[in-house]
Amino acid sequence: MKRLTGRGASLQTLVSGVLLSVFLLGCHVVPDTGRRSLALIPADQEAALGESAFSEIKQEERISTDREKAEMVERVGRRIAAVAEEDLPGLDWEFVLFDNDVINAFALPGGKVGVYTGLFQVARTEDELAVVMGHEVAHVTARHGNERMSNYLLISLGGVALDVALREQEAQTRQMAMIAYGAGATVGYILPYSRRAESEADELGLYYSARAGYDPREAPRFWERMAEAFEGQAGMPTFLATHPSHGTRVRDLEKIMPRAMRYYEEAQRQDP
Ligand SMILES: [Zn+2]
Repeated sequence: MKRLTGRGASLQTLVSGVLLSVFLLGCHVVPDTGRRSLALIPADQEAALGESAFSEIKQEERISTDREKAEMVERVGRRIAAVAEEDLPGLDWEFVLFDNDVINAFALPGGKVGVYTGLFQVARTEDELAVVMGHEVAHVTARHGNERMSNYLLISLGGVALDVALREQEAQTRQMAMIAYGAGATVGYILPYSRRAESEADELGLYYSARAGYDPREAPRFWERMAEAFEGQAGMPTFLATHPSHGTRVRDLEKIMPRAMRYYEEAQRQDP
């Protein structure tokens, strides 16, 4: 075969490099649901982005001094992460409680999970906290942050620029990490997880928490109270605002409950 030389060759190299990276790195199979998702950011860069955004958040926000609640967040988080680890091993998990009345929690790529003290207005027991922690851990192992960043890259930069963007990761770090975080207020626009990602995190998260020994039957009650807490309010957390209606969520939970109960009963038998 005749080889291209000069500019043609370098353009061809660039284009095939981009295509190769799209096909090699561009696909991630979401655990349990089996859905193929877009993941253009290599795993190590994805974790580095999450790590750097999390350090910034830890500097900007007040970390809670409520040791009892902070330990509960850590304990529940670690138990769920231990179960989830087989889906995405080698992460440096971190669970931090921030002192803020907002009823919310978030997850960053690479295993960084933040919970706000306000969440305890709704989550009163470990089983209820486990509903949220399972959901956040599932966002990490399903690599939803990567999917969000990948979609953003494809839409805003196009295929060829993607390669350049990944090479100039330094300059992109903050912006990309903030996209993964979905920090609307910070960057001035909101790019929430999609509804599909939220439903997926609900499902996968419920399996994780059940396998970790938390009662999945608490989930419908917990989401019920979440919906009540935000009734008629404007400042909904993204994981409610982007989610299908509460009724749909409850119906979805009913569908997956038998499987979650099997995991829960298995966990009970192993460690009653
Ligand atoms: Zn979510």
